[in-house]
Amino acid sequence: MSKNEQVLSKYEQYINPGLARLLRFMGLSAVEREAEGSVVTDWEGKRMIDCVGGYGTFAFGHKHPRIVQAVEEQLRKMPLSSKIMLCEPMADFAERLCRITPGDLTYTFVCNSGTEAVEGAIKLARIATGRTKIISMFNSFHGKTLGSLSASGKDVYREPFEPLLSGFVHVPFGNLERLEAAIDSDTAAVILEPIQGEAGIIVPPYGYLREVRELCNRKGVLLIADEVQTGMGRTGQIFACEEEGVVPDIMCLAKALGGGVMPIGAFIARPHLYEAYKDAPLLHTSTFGGNPLACAAANAAIDVLLEERLYQEAAVKGSYLMTGLRRLADQYPGTVTEIRGRGLMIGVEFANEAIGGLAMAELIEQGVLTAFALNNLRVTRIEPPLTISKQEMDRVIAAFHKALE
Ligand code: PLP
Repeated sequence: MSKNEQVLSKYEQYINPGLARLLRFMGLSAVEREAEGSVVTDWEGKRMIDCVGGYGTFAFGHKHPRIVQAVEEQLRKMPLSSKIMLCEPMADFAERLCRITPGDLTYTFVCNSGTEAVEGAIKLARIATGRTKIISMFNSFHGKTLGSLSASGKDVYREPFEPLLSGFVHVPFGNLERLEAAIDSDTAAVILEPIQGEAGIIVPPYGYLREVRELCNRKGVLLIADEVQTGMGRTGQIFACEEEGVVPDIMCLAKALGGGVMPIGAFIARPHLYEAYKDAPLLHTSTFGGNPLACAAANAAIDVLLEERLYQEAAVKGSYLMTGLRRLADQYPGTVTEIRGRGLMIGVEFANEAIGGLAMAELIEQGVLTAFALNNLRVTRIEPPLTISKQEMDRVIAAFHKALE
């Protein structure tokens, strides 16, 4: 039995029968064996450029040598924390994060995922304001725990679990009037992704983020920026909020924060919110949150991001890739309806889901991995490592050409 078949049958029996059957039906070789840089290799030796990038996780590519080395050194020293003594990698991480985040974001809470960062941010907003209402955006994605799912803006994922947490309302992303109308005296916070990822890479009109910030200031409401997908350089700035000079009250991070080597999440807050900590001791801690291995990876990732100026690369490479893809899309107007994004966070919107599905299967055939946006199945994301080479980008464009043909 091939490795592909062995793994598919275990998925079918123990994990996700629907997914296993779909992959078998599509006849795709779907089992990864190893990865390096921008390339994932399957068990038959086929090499594919990773444009899914763990939905934004692999900003540094797979196995960035400096990040791997930092983790290996920490592994030998002390992989997990005693939790009763202080942990140097975590202290260094908090200091580094404070240095790269905008404005006076100062106090860091370290956790294990983006979902957990959102969950913690919601708790902090509620405890700090003494209010309950959280306003979020239609089609947003913030995670799948009860709190983060309550914030997420897609009914199809929410409805099976109703009633979710009370106090969550949703308004259209990009619409300031509807947001203002939704704010009342019980509103604790507005939560948004500066560029919506799972909604299909939706970039709001320029000025929207700043107007939301001003509205929140005027109404005395907190602004939570979910930069889990946009953060760490992907959009051409270290954080997407910076495009409009916006400083949120709380910022949520994960994915690329671990350098593509370790899982880690964090939320970082402005100093006045930290006062709330005295009313809610241990506001958001966990056994593995801030563990030395994950923090060592994040520390090395931040150093690499700054020293290699990968966010500037993302801007240049993003416009090269987007221009190449748009030139092709113009030749197939009935197939691709829009190519949009910022930096290396790119969405390709197809005329319908079936065409998008066929194109994705052909892209895999051509050695390029892409994936649907969770909340908009007409959109395929192109989110390669920021370290992708020009040659690899040319391969992506060539594969895209074949797929459109
Ligand atoms: N927030 C955003 C904007 C995301 O894109 C995601 C994941 O895709 C999450 C939160 C949840 O993060 P995680 O999968 O690490 O729990």
